[in-house]
Amino acid sequence: MVRAADGLRVKLVAPTSQAAALFHGRLFEIAPAVKPLLRGDMTEQGCKLMATLGVVVKSLGNLEAVLPAASALAKRHVDHGVKAADYPPVGAALLWTLEQGFSITMSEPLVIVGNGMAAACLCEELAQRALGRYAIAVIGEEPRLAYNRVLLSSVLAGEVRASDISLKPAAWWSDRGITLCYGVGVTAADIAARTVTLSDDKALPFAKLVFATGSRPICLRIAGADLPGVLTFRDMSHVASMSRAACRSAPIVVIGGGLLGIEAAYGLAKAGASVTLVHLVDRLMERQLDARAALLLKRAVEAKGIRVLLDVATRDSSAMVTSRV
Ligand SMILES: Cc1cc2nc3c(=O)[nH]c(=O)nc-3n(C[C@H](O)[C@H](O)[C@H](O)COP(=O)(O)OP(=O)(O)OC[C@H]3O[C@@H](n4cnc5c(N)ncnc54)[C@H](O)[C@@H]3O)c2cc1C
Repeated sequence: MVRAADGLRVKLVAPTSQAAALFHGRLFEIAPAVKPLLRGDMTEQGCKLMATLGVVVKSLGNLEAVLPAASALAKRHVDHGVKAADYPPVGAALLWTLEQGFSITMSEPLVIVGNGMAAACLCEELAQRALGRYAIAVIGEEPRLAYNRVLLSSVLAGEVRASDISLKPAAWWSDRGITLCYGVGVTAADIAARTVTLSDDKALPFAKLVFATGSRPICLRIAGADLPGVLTFRDMSHVASMSRAACRSAPIVVIGGGLLGIEAAYGLAKAGASVTLVHLVDRLMERQLDARAALLLKRAVEAKGIRVLLDVATRDSSAMVTSRV
């Protein structure tokens, strides 16, 4: 299956892709110089290679059957600039992949719920330590590749582009045989039946299940908190809404003078909005800073054109109807 989201093509890979991912992982490990020769969609290349290898293995002792497949493969290699000297590591990686044959067919389905920073880190570790051990599927609610969430503030402030904060390119996932499914959430997990249900009603089996779902922002239980235009700051879609709000001339109130609140206020002010930062406690970032440091920070924030109100509880946001964060 091929999904299109954000202009990216993401493949749900066939079992042969796992063998291909194993092969490429091993090959690049023992012969990193070969990597630049292999361009384009590695999953497709890998599947073709494994299909050829399948013909070779089935036809051992029958040269006539092997030759057409082997010469077609050799021609593709020449087209890619592969030289005779590149073959020994390719052969070694193929042999190693064959030796791993059992683990390929026995790969346990591992489903990771959440396509955030923790999921990416886990996949990286697994690819390094146990490539092919699991048939990994990563399911992410957000309709995009995993990105560095910490940099959302920089995106809001216009210092970094949204497209620059992806943790890994699409090819990184497919090269490792990882099934990426984003823009779809996991709605239920049946531990007895070992399946998860997705928001598009599909079911996915698992042997191991990892929840890497991060956290959700706290929403204040105050009147008006559910009005359109009252936003939270957690993901890329929030940044897009906040940037749109900053473009309007209506004043913006940011509730919370911790790190995220200050970063949000800064980004919005930088985008040209008139921003008031409201904080419950009598000093900013009270968990991290003493009174003196907090005062210096307040002055620095005010110097950016942000109004700071301390020791103020928010009771009702329904009066702030046009543009709020
Ligand atoms: C603006 C901002 C700035 C930050 N700055 C810092 C910083 O400077 N330093 C720091 O240490 N931390 C910072 N953090 C916190 C840091 O980003 C998080 O700790 C980190 O992202 C957690 O990683 P995670 O993979 O556990 O969760 P996340 O990165 O939140 O990823 C979880 C993913 O799971 C998805 N998901 C949830 N439920 C489901 C479901 N049912 N099905 C499918 N997918 C699901 C979510 O949509 C999300 O994409 C910041 C956070 C924000 C928002």
